[in-house]
Amino acid sequence: MASEAPVCLIIGGGITGLIAAVTLQQQGIQPLILDKGYGLGGRLASRRLQAPSGSEGQFDYGAQQFTVGTPSFQTWVDDWLRQGIVKVWSTGFANIMGGVRSSDRPPGMASYCGVVSQRAIAQHLAQTLDVHPRQKVIRLDWQDGQWVAHTETGQRFAGDLALLTPPLPQTLDLLASSGIAVPEPLRLRLAAITYTRCIAVLALLAQESAIPAPGGLDLDGEPLQWIASNFKKGVSSGYGVTLHGGPEFSQQYWQAENDAIAAHLIAAAQPWLNTPEIAHHVHRWKYSQPRQRFSKPFVWLDHPGPLVLAGDGFGPAAAASALEGAVLSGLAAATAIAF
Ligand SMILES: Cc1cc2nc3c(=O)[nH]c(=O)nc-3n(C[C@H](O)[C@H](O)[C@H](O)COP(=O)(O)OP(=O)(O)OC[C@H]3O[C@@H](n4cnc5c(N)ncnc54)[C@H](O)[C@@H]3O)c2cc1C
Repeated sequence: MASEAPVCLIIGGGITGLIAAVTLQQQGIQPLILDKGYGLGGRLASRRLQAPSGSEGQFDYGAQQFTVGTPSFQTWVDDWLRQGIVKVWSTGFANIMGGVRSSDRPPGMASYCGVVSQRAIAQHLAQTLDVHPRQKVIRLDWQDGQWVAHTETGQRFAGDLALLTPPLPQTLDLLASSGIAVPEPLRLRLAAITYTRCIAVLALLAQESAIPAPGGLDLDGEPLQWIASNFKKGVSSGYGVTLHGGPEFSQQYWQAENDAIAAHLIAAAQPWLNTPEIAHHVHRWKYSQPRQRFSKPFVWLDHPGPLVLAGDGFGPAAAASALEGAVLSGLAAATAIAF
């Protein structure tokens, strides 16, 4: 029997879209997720890398960990802890001075990560959802009282409402190419939300690195802002190290050859690697983390049809991490849609 439940098209299967989808489903709304990626999770990204010798490693190469500052997100995290989806990784990472970076977290605040991988958190959330990967939305039309999403593969997906969760610049580009007008003062405020770039180098080592337990070093500088041992983190049986270039390095080397980028960051990390690299992979994150957040957790547009914008560019100041900002935005958007 055909379902009478209203359908909400969700563009983006990152944590914002997935949390919103689970919440909508609980409220009797049918979420339909479209994502341009091969795997789910967006910036909750993990992959394997194999060396010609056959050795391999698993890498978290987007969000490394997250902190929680609100009871509403803590409820979800406690449930994930009970189900063995996440664990406490650390209560403070060493930084280059040997202390705990205090700029964005109180000492002792728990940092969580996926037990298997960061992407596994997304896969857990998606278990009961209608998700369509490899579907890049290139245009949204309001036709006969419904939203129709046209994808690069030539397919069309219809819904009664639409929720857009990509990084804000990508959302604004999609609205512009779809001819959907956003009132100019609001568009200017949304366009003012910018993101840092981050080049990630995934380096598979011959032996375990010298990164101290529990495996994360918060360098917060240039050219490196973060180094992690995926082995010490417990997500890789191979000696995979994730290196994140700082925003200035990433901007400056954006167009450089992959091998030159890898050589530069691996050399900078040498004191903590202590062993040769046997394979590497470079990933460019054009939209890594928002520099600012919009003052509200989502934006609701009524014309030409109900359209909601959410993601980590929105969200309350109470969010203790970029990822929590995304979660709170997704929860608030879904609650507004459902009620
Ligand atoms: C290198 C790096 C390190 C980070 N470290 C941390 C950290 O340590 N702690 C922390 O809290 N946060 C961290 N973050 C930020 C955190 O990952 C994000 O805040 C969070 O994952 C954002 O989730 P989201 O769902 O809002 O966006 P995304 O995860 O980006 O999801 C948006 C989705 O939309 C899809 N999409 C975009 N355009 C289209 C389209 N036209 N059609 C279909 N699909 C589309 C994308 O494929 C993507 O899957 C980091 C991010 C990066 C990149």
